[in-house]
Amino acid sequence: MQTSGREFSLIERYFRQQASPDASVVLGIGDDCALIMPTPGMQQAISIDTSIADRHFPADAPPYLIGRRVLNVSLSDLAAMGATPRWFTLALALVEADDDWLAGFAGGLFSAAEAGDIRLIGGDTTRAGQLVISTQVQGELPPGTALTRAGAQAGEHIYVTGPLGLAAAGLALYRQQRDGPQALVNAYLDPQPQLATGHRLRGLAGSCIDISDGLLADLGHILAASAVGAELDLAAVPLDEQAIRLFGYRQALQWALTGGDDYQLCFTSRLDRAALAARGIEGVCRIGQINQADGLVFVNRPADLTITSTGFDHFA
Ligand code: ADP
Ligand code: MG
Repeated sequence: MQTSGREFSLIERYFRQQASPDASVVLGIGDDCALIMPTPGMQQAISIDTSIADRHFPADAPPYLIGRRVLNVSLSDLAAMGATPRWFTLALALVEADDDWLAGFAGGLFSAAEAGDIRLIGGDTTRAGQLVISTQVQGELPPGTALTRAGAQAGEHIYVTGPLGLAAAGLALYRQQRDGPQALVNAYLDPQPQLATGHRLRGLAGSCIDISDGLLADLGHILAASAVGAELDLAAVPLDEQAIRLFGYRQALQWALTGGDDYQLCFTSRLDRAALAARGIEGVCRIGQINQADGLVFVNRPADLTITSTGFDHFA
């Protein structure tokens, strides 16, 4: 799209503001391309995510939180690979150029960028009938150390980095406009990428994925990519006390398994919890074990639990 004066000042005003210069950015926002100097010998990890208003986030959510969320969701993919965040680009399709909205959005975006230590180096700004935001992130890691989905092996423990189902509970509260614990609503609106844990898991995890579509769907991706099976202890899946109190155990468990949007990591490792803790990986929950056999077997499944879907499928 041709850059009009108004659009140019919008980019200047809201997106050219990131302070911390970085020698790796040879040429940032303002030219036809950004130029970067990758660290010699490092592998580049690249991922893009698109968020559509009222599909991936509520259009009426605070713009500051939308800004944080779109970047943090992309950073979660870097976390899941064990990559160190470096640079990102932003494609914005806006319904209108509202100054208050843009200021809030940019504030949230850069707060997440600062926390994730990643620099905005370019993007694209257009007008559309619907608010659509794409973030492309690029990170680095030593060759051969990426945490892929394909490395799970029989005998490894299966872990998650934190309680699941909170985001789905938070979304339900947000939609019902019910008063509820802010922690649940924040779990949905303001997810935190597990960058430090992903980084520490290099060399310790056989496989890793971030849980964006629900534990069953995402663990299923690991099993398929690694050609292994697993035993999953449903009684060991960490849930949130407040979600259980508000919605009941069965609903909380159902959301943990199929709800999505939690952005915790699910990983496999030969190490037990004590050995992981000794390497700085604390607070993780062991939820099962990888085995040779095909498919996923549940242990401690409540008799009345029906698993209706294994996660969110955009084309279902
Ligand atoms: P071109 O028309 O050459 O593709 P644009 O007019 O789209 O360039 O963008 C001008 C400059 O502003 C480019 O450097 C581009 O990367 C940057 N830019 C455009 N939109 C954004 C945005 N939303 N965030 C960050 N940088 C942006
Ligand atoms: Mg150009």
